[in-house]
Amino acid sequence: MNCEQAKALLDTYIDGELGPDERAQLEQHLETCAECRATLARLRRFRDFFIANGPRYSPPPELKTKVLSRLEIAKRREATAWLRKPWLYAGILLLGGLLLSWWRISADSEKAIAQQAVSNFVRAAALEHLCDVVSPDPGVVGSWLTSKLDFSPPVVLPGLGFQMRGGRLDVVQNRKVAGLVYKRNKDLLTVFVWPAGGQPLRPNSRFLDGKQVSAWTQADLNFVAVSNMSGQGLDEVVDRLKNAIK
Ligand SMILES: [Zn+2]
Repeated sequence: MNCEQAKALLDTYIDGELGPDERAQLEQHLETCAECRATLARLRRFRDFFIANGPRYSPPPELKTKVLSRLEIAKRREATAWLRKPWLYAGILLLGGLLLSWWRISADSEKAIAQQAVSNFVRAAALEHLCDVVSPDPGVVGSWLTSKLDFSPPVVLPGLGFQMRGGRLDVVQNRKVAGLVYKRNKDLLTVFVWPAGGQPLRPNSRFLDGKQVSAWTQADLNFVAVSNMSGQGLDEVVDRLKNAIK
């Protein structure tokens, strides 16, 4: 038996599923071959890790059917052998669980950011302290914010009848952010801006506490727009802002 033949059998050997002849031949090869012994040890560690760390699952029957139906008939025997390895399932499920919890964490933090932006919006309106700098001129608002922050927020007008009211400093996720304030009659719009710093926001829109919230990342900056507008108007406003910032 050569190394290639031996390696093809190692998996089955670990599972104790080799016939007596093949088993004897393989063990004979292992006695003389350090490389295959090392491969065997690696496979055992891998298998033991999943047995120790993953709960034991038997494959759900519909998964087995699905996998089998995607494989060619010629490969069916191998697939069946694969499906008989519960530790491999545990590994796949463990990885799936990790991905799912990562996804949940990131979705949770996006919701927390939106929640914070809404709280800022509501508090500023209640205190009637919307702006630290009052000006209809985006240039004036931009320069003032740049002088108070460690970045330059792009201050643009969305159109659609919104006027610039000014800007303020606010806090989102424990960092100082720019708040750009716009009004259109009774519609108040505040756009919070801060450097993405490797934590970009997935574009998302939601309703929170009766406010429309839309988040996105552009030009390495995170943006969260909050408005008390009724109806679905915020998406259009956000599109205008995105085009103006480009
Ligand atoms: Zn070998």
